[in-house]
Amino acid sequence: MIKYLLLLAVIAAVVWFLAAGARARRRQAESPPAQDMVRCAHCGVFQPRSESILARGRFYCSTEHERLH
Ligand SMILES: [Zn+2]
Repeated sequence: MIKYLLLLAVIAAVVWFLAAGARARRRQAESPPAQDMVRCAHCGVFQPRSESILARGRFYCSTEHERLH
């Protein structure tokens, strides 16, 4: 009998864990997309990631700074 109680506890824990994960994902989806700002590795200026140049794992504000760095 105690074995079944243990199994039930494990199932309850798994269900709770999955429900918590689903809630977290839903919260993330609802929040507006934050403007993802990155810093130029050469001059340090901040600008949106979409407008930056990514090279060797670093972000740059322009191809010129990517070349100079
Ligand atoms: Zn720059």
